[in-house]
Amino acid sequence: MGRRDPSWDPAPAGAGAGLPRVAWGRGCYVHDATGRRYLDASGGPAVFCLGHGHDEVNAAIARQLQRIAHGYRYTFTSDPLEELESLVTAAAGPELEGMVFVCGGSEAVESALKIALQYHSARGETARRRFIARRRSWHGNTLGALAVSDFSARRAPFEGALVDASFLPSVNAYRPPAGVAVADLAAHAAGELEAEILRVGAERVAAFIFEPVAGAAGGVVPAPAGYAKRIREVCDRHGVLMIADEVMCGAGRCGTWRALEHDGVVPDVCAIAKGLGGGYVPLGATLYHRRIAAVLDAVDGGALTGHTFTGHTLACAAGVAVQTIVKRDRLVERVARDGEAFRAALGAELGGIGAVGDIRGRGFFVGIELVRDPDTREPFDAELQLSARIGRAATARGLLLYPVGGNVDGVSGDALILAPPFNAPADVLDEIVGLTGHAIRDALRSL
Ligand code: PMP
Repeated sequence: MGRRDPSWDPAPAGAGAGLPRVAWGRGCYVHDATGRRYLDASGGPAVFCLGHGHDEVNAAIARQLQRIAHGYRYTFTSDPLEELESLVTAAAGPELEGMVFVCGGSEAVESALKIALQYHSARGETARRRFIARRRSWHGNTLGALAVSDFSARRAPFEGALVDASFLPSVNAYRPPAGVAVADLAAHAAGELEAEILRVGAERVAAFIFEPVAGAAGGVVPAPAGYAKRIREVCDRHGVLMIADEVMCGAGRCGTWRALEHDGVVPDVCAIAKGLGGGYVPLGATLYHRRIAAVLDAVDGGALTGHTFTGHTLACAAGVAVQTIVKRDRLVERVARDGEAFRAALGAELGGIGAVGDIRGRGFFVGIELVRDPDTREPFDAELQLSARIGRAATARGLLLYPVGGNVDGVSGDALILAPPFNAPADVLDEIVGLTGHAIRDALRSL
C-alpha cells in the first residue's frame, strides 16, 4: 500500500478534496471559512486542553507581546520563564528539577535522548549509546526521535540514516501475546526489557523510552497496572535511564498532571508538549531528575541541548496562562473525575455496535478500537481504511476526531482517539458521544 498510511494523513475533508480553511474557534468548536462549524473532540492530536479562543490566554499573549516577544536565553531570564518553571515543578513534582523548554514534542524527545547520552558520558560510561523503545509508539519527526519511533511509513525514506534502536513488542491488555494472561502482562513485558538489556549488554544501553499511554501509533493504550514500576526496577538494576514520553498523554490529559503519577513512578527524563501551551503557541519541555541535573551541572555546566527559541518568552507567557487556569479551575481533577463517566457513556452508546472491540484510556484521553470480529479481535482489512472512513464520516457530521490506522501491526488496525478539552461542558461531552456513534455507524454502512 505504498508509503502512505491512513494515520499519517487522516485528511478530515477527504484526501484529494482539499482541507477546509480554518477561520476561527471558540471553546470546543472550530469554524471554517465557509461558515461550517465542527465540534473539536480531539484538539488535533490531543493539544487543545482549554479549547479554542480562551480570552484569558489570548490576553496574556497580547500583554506579553506588547512588552517583548523574546529575550534570548543566553542574554536574559524572564518572569514568564521563571513562572512557568515554578508551575511545572509544582505540577510535575520536585524530583524533576531539571528543565529545558523547547518548541514542541519532537524537540522535547530529542532533548530527552541527548540528556540521557550526556549523563552517561559525564559519568564516563561512554559506551551507553543504545536506546530501547517499543513497537507501535510515536516519539517525533526529528532524526533521533524518529529513530526510536515505530511508524514504518514515516521512517521508510530515512532508513539507513536513523540510529540503531531496539524495539520491544507493544504492551496492550486488549492484545496480550499468545499464552500470556493479562494479569501477567506487566511482568512479561518487564522480562522482555531485561532480556534485551542483557542481550545488548547493559554497559551499552543508554535508556528505555516509552509512552505511559501509547497515543498516535497505538490508539490510546494505557500500560497495564504494575508495568511502570516493574520497568523502573529493571532500568535501575542495569543503570539504564527511563524516559517517559508524555508529549501526548501528559500535562493533565490522563487525569494526573504527569501520566506516570497514576502508576506511582518518577521517570529519569520526561518529555511534555501539546497540553503545556494548550495549542496557543508551539511549546514543549524536557524535565529531568535532580540526580541527573547534578551530574550535568557538575561536569558540563548544564544540559547541552536547546535552541534559539528555547524558553521563548511569549511561549512561556502563554504556558503560564494555560497552566494557571488548569490549576485554578482544578481541571486535572475534573478530567480524572469525569473521564470515567465519559468512557462509560461511550460504552453505552457504542455497546450495540459489534465492530467496537475496545474502549479504553485514562481521563480525557480515550481510544476506541474497531475489529472485524470482537471474539477473535481480528482487525478489518487495512485496504478498507476504516478509521480514515470514520474520520471522514465524523467530519461530515461536524465532528473532529483523530483516526489511527495500523495500530495492531503497523498496517492493520483501526482506532479512534477522542481528547476533548479539559473544560468541555457536560452537554458537549454528550454531543461527542452521540456523534461518534453516528460516525462509526455511517462508516460501517459504507463498507
Ligand atoms: N511524542 C508523542 C507521544 C507524540 O504523540 C508526538 C506528536 N504526536 C510527538 C512526540 C512529537 O511531537 P511534535 O509533533 O510536537 O513534534
